[in-house]
Amino acid sequence: MQISESKRLFAHAKTFIPGGVNSPVRAFRAVGGEPIFIKKADGAYLFDEDGNSYIELINSWGPMILGHNHPMIREAVIQAMENGTSFGAPTAREVEMAELIVKMVPSVEKVRMVNSGTEATMSAIRVARGFTGRDKFIKMEGHYHGHGDSFLISAGSGAITMGNPDSPGVTVGTAKDTLLAPYNDLEAIERLVEANKGEIAALILEPVPGNMGLTLPLPGYLEGLREICTREGIVLIFDEVMTGFRLAKGGAQELFGVTPDMTTLGKIIGGGMPVGAYGGKKEIMQFVSPAGPVYQAGTLSGNPIAMAAGLAMLRYLDTHPEVYAQLALIGRKIAEGITKINHDQNLNYTVNFVGSMYSLFFTQQPVIDFESAKTSDTVLFGRYFQEMLKRGVYLAPSQFESLFLSTALTDELIGRILLAHEESIRVIHQ
Ligand code: PMP
Repeated sequence: MQISESKRLFAHAKTFIPGGVNSPVRAFRAVGGEPIFIKKADGAYLFDEDGNSYIELINSWGPMILGHNHPMIREAVIQAMENGTSFGAPTAREVEMAELIVKMVPSVEKVRMVNSGTEATMSAIRVARGFTGRDKFIKMEGHYHGHGDSFLISAGSGAITMGNPDSPGVTVGTAKDTLLAPYNDLEAIERLVEANKGEIAALILEPVPGNMGLTLPLPGYLEGLREICTREGIVLIFDEVMTGFRLAKGGAQELFGVTPDMTTLGKIIGGGMPVGAYGGKKEIMQFVSPAGPVYQAGTLSGNPIAMAAGLAMLRYLDTHPEVYAQLALIGRKIAEGITKINHDQNLNYTVNFVGSMYSLFFTQQPVIDFESAKTSDTVLFGRYFQEMLKRGVYLAPSQFESLFLSTALTDELIGRILLAHEESIRVIHQ
């Protein structure tokens, strides 16, 4: 595999961009080697600047659930472009978008569009604070909610991958209002609530966390959180930036049948364009300016091109519910295939999966929270990543991420992924 053009671009990029990339995990620090520069993508494939192609299992970190460069989304964007790229004034598309989100996501009665998942979570916490008149909120260890100051405390995803789960630059004053709890531990929440009686505005979590590697809620956990929050007047926020429109039309809240008070969305909602959204109960969302006093705004929010791409995506998912059974089958074939190959080689590594998300952890322990995720052998993961890449399969370059599958993965491609896995897992244990 020739990657000289990627190497040249990376060296050049480091002169002008911190670490040579615009988002840290892309630098491949955790897996060794240097990043591949991508020229284009189509269906299940990425194509790099040196002419190599890869079957890919990240799909732009989630958005491309139908595969890359889908004709329907491409057409919607091209059509919207004919009329200009931004107006800074309301448009019909935004209304349709809001109506569709309210229809699809159980907890959302009113919604505000923003430009990223980070904006969605930052805004949701502000609104929950304004609504309750309380300052503190609970966050789970190892969960990632974007790079807002108050979330960069025991943060997963790139923050843990780079070794900075508690980022410098976050003031002590900010950090003191973020209360930490381990995921899947209801008693820990009860203790925090008791110790901070009447002071907690919100509890935010990834209902199915992907940012410490994919982890699943234990039976009764989400229901238990719902009960505590209702009892204590705490706003329950599901961060469904990854899981929204992916695990079901209505996200993890539909799949697990637990309805939060607020929901944050991103990724799929923009069809690959920079979009996020937050929404929830009417009485809470009525606090958002100009309906209410909590300020939140955006020059490019509801951007017509982004809305065109997102609407094309959501309309498709809304009218093709069979997509979710198809994705679940693809996920099952890959996750079970990997598990079987591992067992055949006497390796009992943990594979967590649900729908079209999965993670292979290089640990034999069940992974149910941040502590157990961290028992993974990240050096071995790095070697596995490189072996898969050599065989033309592009994975998330970190142990602490989920993989995201798309409908573009045919049985033939799944076979190639499993063959690459079989060879890679053997090579790294030789
Ligand atoms: N929340 C979750 C659950 C996420 O996975 C992410 C990004 N991976 C974010 C928030 C932040 O979204 P963005 O990168 O669009 O700011």
